[in-house]
Amino acid sequence: MKRATPHSTGSISPPPIKRKIDSTTTSKAVATFFKPASQRPPENLIWRIVENSLVVGRYNPNEKTQDEPKLPVKVAAFDLDDTIIVANTGSKWARSPTSWKWWDQSIPGRLKQLHEEGYAIVFLSNQGNVSLKDNPKSLQKDTPSLVNLKNQITSIFRQLDIPLSFYGATAQDRFRKPRTGMWDEMLDDLGLQAEDAVDVDGSFYVGDAAGRAKTDQRNKDHAPSDRHLAANIGIRFQTPEEFFLGAAPEPYDHGFDPLRHLERAEISQTSSEVPKDSSTAMTFTKNDPQELVIFCGSPGAGKSTFFWDVLEPLGYERVNQDILKTVRTLSMSLFTTVPAQSLIERLTPISCC
Ligand SMILES: [Mg+2]
Repeated sequence: MKRATPHSTGSISPPPIKRKIDSTTTSKAVATFFKPASQRPPENLIWRIVENSLVVGRYNPNEKTQDEPKLPVKVAAFDLDDTIIVANTGSKWARSPTSWKWWDQSIPGRLKQLHEEGYAIVFLSNQGNVSLKDNPKSLQKDTPSLVNLKNQITSIFRQLDIPLSFYGATAQDRFRKPRTGMWDEMLDDLGLQAEDAVDVDGSFYVGDAAGRAKTDQRNKDHAPSDRHLAANIGIRFQTPEEFFLGAAPEPYDHGFDPLRHLERAEISQTSSEVPKDSSTAMTFTKNDPQELVIFCGSPGAGKSTFFWDVLEPLGYERVNQDILKTVRTLSMSLFTTVPAQSLIERLTPISCC
């Protein structure tokens, strides 16, 4: 005879729940655990990515004992490549913990001295060769180029072993030098957003992209972006030769310096002959009967207003891409507005805005 099983009509308890226990151990932590101590990243180094664009690394060897900074803070800011380090391999882009050397042997001592003098030390570097796109096929989230950059910066931090911050702009956006986004982010990170929190006169930026011409000893600088960054922030600029080697400052002309135009505008605004609220306060003179005036400026900057207020009364004709839609029609219009024959007869000035 078959015995009836207990609770044959069904269990009074719900079936046991298969619990999924989330592990708090990451693959990175496991990998770090098995690494020799000498190869482990310092735990007091924190990396983060801002707006999927800016790479930020902050290193503080004495985080727990760090005092609040004394305000105002002096900031010693540096470019990285060809200023703090140079590649010791064929390519500066082949980044690794051993692919670099100091730009000059005095640099570690000089940076440690700046730290002892109370400077906040930051590196602001354009890193257009670094990709931040995630690779869904890989467990490792960082791209190879980002891993290489982090490894190189980590090795620099470890050698200096003082509080340091690294900012690397990887895209053509507000962070890229000479724009000031990296500086602004640094102010947020260090709690220096308040007015007067930074000693502007005591702060400086050092970089090799200084817009210098070619000499017998040196190639032409690839860009003036480091010099322009300092100008945009409003702090002193020096080249690596001037700062680390004590070289004499080289004269430099920005060519186009908006400050000069603003100063002219202020003088015009205070002139009794010109209405203070007039957009025509800046005098514009026609120096040649045949002139092309090109307007550059963000939407709403006043390009069209300036044309109608100042240039149209002087007889300029207007060529505008907003109306003509394409660059091709714009350029065709530009060259047909004043036919070659009538250039001599009419000598009509043209403006593009
Ligand atoms: Mg550089």
